[in-house]
Amino acid sequence: MNYIYLDNSATTKPSEASLKKMGEALTVCYGNPSSVHKVGNEAKKMLDEARRRVILSLGFRRENDCRLFFTSGGTEANNMAIFGSVFAKDRPMKNGSRGKIFISAGEHSSVVNAAKRLEAEGFTVLEVPTAGGVLDLDYIKENADNNTVLASFMLANNETGAIYDVKSAFQIIRAASPKAVCHVDAVQAYLKMKFTPTSLSADLLSISAHKIFAPKGAGALYVTHDMIKAKRIIPILYGGGQEDDYRSGTENVPAIVAFGAAAEEGKAQMAERIEKITALREKLLVALGEMDVRANIPEKTLPNIINITLPGIRSEIMLNYLSGEGICISAGSACSTHSSGPSHALLAYGLPKDEADTSVRISLSHENTAEEIDTFISALSRGLQTLAKK
Ligand code: PLP
Repeated sequence: MNYIYLDNSATTKPSEASLKKMGEALTVCYGNPSSVHKVGNEAKKMLDEARRRVILSLGFRRENDCRLFFTSGGTEANNMAIFGSVFAKDRPMKNGSRGKIFISAGEHSSVVNAAKRLEAEGFTVLEVPTAGGVLDLDYIKENADNNTVLASFMLANNETGAIYDVKSAFQIIRAASPKAVCHVDAVQAYLKMKFTPTSLSADLLSISAHKIFAPKGAGALYVTHDMIKAKRIIPILYGGGQEDDYRSGTENVPAIVAFGAAAEEGKAQMAERIEKITALREKLLVALGEMDVRANIPEKTLPNIINITLPGIRSEIMLNYLSGEGICISAGSACSTHSSGPSHALLAYGLPKDEADTSVRISLSHENTAEEIDTFISALSRGLQTLAKK
């Protein structure tokens, strides 16, 4: 298939190193890591190696500096963080609420819908405004109190690329409620910007394999030793006790080892990948600046995500047009394809509804080329002319 793929925030093409490792796990080390024979032991060794690789990719020097539980992806890691921490303690009703939960206004649906479920269980959910791509710290100061049980913020938004100051947000939350759990959804930010879970002062942090050039089917939740010691997190899946009893279910070894390989590769190449993406981004922004579109650029942003508002052309119409030209981009996030209405993240960014409906996302990777950017710009320009006439 010959196409130009500019939808790398939806998912990425697995790297050769990750596929090679996956192949090994499928053909040679195909055992169950819980089995006590040689084939099982080989699979266990591969699983341990993947865990070490992912932990080191998060900026730790040693594997035992933290805990890391493998999950099926970012969605499960977010659900484990949210339900696993909130239900770890008794949360009796006090003044009409079982506790406050802070999320940002443009969270991924795996956080929004988990929080909605908790609202139905008697918790109070507060959405922190993110106008212009800035997490509103004053809102947190005004609303956090000692009944706050959880703060779950994304480090970077999947639709706008905006980077949020989660560290300052957590400082405010902890000053009001020292026992509140602080979770970061780092699915988009992971290996696209420099951070460590410690630098963000996160208790919990979610990542996903298929956003970093590994296949779908694996993710992980980072957990501090303190969270485990103080029993501030419990499992959400019960069964055979895999992952030290924190995530039962036979481990998806092929996807996990591919994740480990992509993490190691991504960490080693991070600086050069960011440099390449930044150059492509600058080229793209210059060309867009000469067209009848507006780039919505947050104050602090990931290099790979660019959201643009088209002049009165609905995003799906442009997506279909570009798809016909062999170019893949998206409107909002891939996950919001299933929900109707304008993107809540773009509304939270401050776009009016009609502009949110006419905005598209371009998400780059180090595998894109300058020629691809030229081809995209020509196709977008033709699309703007053709569709404006309809
Ligand atoms: N969080 C963010 C910010 C995302 O962008 C995504 C996926 O798009 C997820 C969570 C969910 O990750 P997964 O697709 O691995 O379930």
